[in-house]
Amino acid sequence: MVPADLMRIEKLVVIGVGLIGGSLALALKRRGVVGEIVGLGRRVETLEEAVSLGVIDRFDTDHSAVQGADLIFMGVPVGAMATQFERIAPYINDRTTITDGGSTKQHVIDDARQILAGGASRFVPGHPIAGSERSGVAAANAALFDKHTVLLTPLPENDPSIIEQVTRMWQYTGACVETMDPVKHDRILGLTSHLPHILAYTLVDFIARGDNAERCFDLAAGGFFDFTRIASSDPIMWRDITVTNRESLSESIGDFIERLSALKELVDQERADEIESLYRFAREARNRLVDKRKS
Ligand code: NAP
Repeated sequence: MVPADLMRIEKLVVIGVGLIGGSLALALKRRGVVGEIVGLGRRVETLEEAVSLGVIDRFDTDHSAVQGADLIFMGVPVGAMATQFERIAPYINDRTTITDGGSTKQHVIDDARQILAGGASRFVPGHPIAGSERSGVAAANAALFDKHTVLLTPLPENDPSIIEQVTRMWQYTGACVETMDPVKHDRILGLTSHLPHILAYTLVDFIARGDNAERCFDLAAGGFFDFTRIASSDPIMWRDITVTNRESLSESIGDFIERLSALKELVDQERADEIESLYRFAREARNRLVDKRKS
């Protein structure tokens, strides 16, 4: 049973008012469950834009602004989380709940434990499985999390009431919340999100540096654009995701190279039946996934 005072967020501080932080702010405003939303960030222009778009009510660039917050949401790239933990550390107390939207979890948890020490018990790590290749507050959208999953990777030292508070916050946005072990999170998201981004960036880089790049791109059709849409994502965000999930990604990239080498052999040896069988297997797996999502 959730105490009534956890149902409303009187003061929410969003650190990093970009696509994810801004969309969370808009979704909570839409639901009418938040009193004041304060944006905290790096560039004043971004924060001014966030106020003018109605995403936040006011902003600050001094981390003392987190004082009195019921909830602090960290919406910065994962490589920037540590500095933010350092800056909020002097101001958090046993009434503050901290959560984040970072795409990798174990690294952020390690940062929180190292910097916040006992205060890490106030941190409930999270990751909305929703987003886009667009970034910045102008791309923020109140409906971004509707019917999407948010994965929480709670810490053993979290009090159940703050896990419930963060769960409620995401449910208010229209999301479905699940919990998961952080290592498992990083391994699975490494395969379904991080590896595809690496492949898309690498393919575009490979063609762009090759002979006749311009001519190749002129002739690129829908398949190329579908496959490479995510290579338009923010390079800093993806740099941070890649290095903070390096163990899992290194393994996945290695396994993938082996599979690609096996396919190369099939191609070199013109083993058409086996190529077709691989494509059939993959198409059936993807079609099942699409059908499941539709239902
Ligand atoms: P974004 O639109 O680029 O917003 C990032 C925000 O963080 C901006 O307000 C930016 O401020 C601020 N920021 C960037 N670097 C900073 C630094 N070094 N110090 C302080 N503030 C900094 O990014 P986003 O897509 O919202 O991603 C935010 C987080 O959500 C990331 O951890 C990402 O891994 C995660 N995530 C992203 C997606 C997605 O599809 N985009 C999906 C799920 C989770 P300035 O405007 O001043 O640069």
